[in-house]
Amino acid sequence: MTAPDRYGVMGYPVAHSRSPVIHRLFALQTEQDMQYDLIQVEPGGLDSAVRQFQRAGGKGLNITTPHKGDAALMADELSDRARVAGAVNTLLIKDDELFGDNTDGAGLVQDLTQNEELELQGANILILGAGGATRGILGPLCAEKPTQIIIANRTLPKAEALVMHFSGEVPVKSCRFQNVPRDVEFDLIVNATSASLQGETPPYPKTAVSDKTVCYDLSYGLAPTPFSSWAARHGAARSLMGWGMLVEQAAESFELWRGVRPDTESVLGQLNLSAS
Ligand code: NDP
Repeated sequence: MTAPDRYGVMGYPVAHSRSPVIHRLFALQTEQDMQYDLIQVEPGGLDSAVRQFQRAGGKGLNITTPHKGDAALMADELSDRARVAGAVNTLLIKDDELFGDNTDGAGLVQDLTQNEELELQGANILILGAGGATRGILGPLCAEKPTQIIIANRTLPKAEALVMHFSGEVPVKSCRFQNVPRDVEFDLIVNATSASLQGETPPYPKTAVSDKTVCYDLSYGLAPTPFSSWAARHGAARSLMGWGMLVEQAAESFELWRGVRPDTESVLGQLNLSAS
């Protein structure tokens, strides 16, 4: 009997990740013989951890906070969307070569437009945070042709650098949390900060929320995240957590690794989750 093909997720922290459960459900559903593990890798340690996994015969990895930029630098080849993002959340290990992809943006857009039936064309979008996740979602969100995207970040130069990088047809602007324009009716606010991972609640811009605003936290939990509670408290039309994105981006990774597309709806149902 041959050993199952090995996959995993590397991040720091990583213990909270639900990716192993999701990939096990995908594997059962599509009858793939594979193993998927949580691998905690401290900041600065990605290169040696990936090489070790590669030497042990590993076939592919998900890469999460804070390693997505480093993963893009160490990949031998990048997909177009990973190159644009400058961030990799999926590595395919093939013939000693590392192929890097970024499935975060496709996962978010799939969840917003297909599962949640939101129209992004013509929308005013506010993104909070300017880290690896924002780099991954910005290109795919722009491709949906919103009216504009504003990126608010605690560290303004990071948001400014992203704006420079993503100059295209859709206007993308940057500001600090306290300078989010008050005269824009936001259709969608995406929280892409990792504040809740550290148990912190930044000064989210409450004037940006109205009863027409859908708030989407990339973070997720069995209980509402601090951002999703904040959004509900401030009268958002809907307050969603990133479970759908998590399952959709995982399905994209799974398809890259195994060549089969799992059914995401049943897996979301099996996780027995509900947005607040
Ligand atoms: P990064 O570490 O790359 O970036 C973190 C961002 O959060 C930065 O903009 C940082 O601001 C900001 N931030 C952190 N703490 C605070 C704070 N206390 N106050 C204000 N801002 C803060 O993380 P990622 O971009 O990779 O991930 C962001 C989040 O998205 C994580 O929670 C991750 O789990 C989630 N995620 C979910 C996915 C899903 O499938 N649902 C997929 C990908 C990510 P600054 O620049 O000032 O440091």
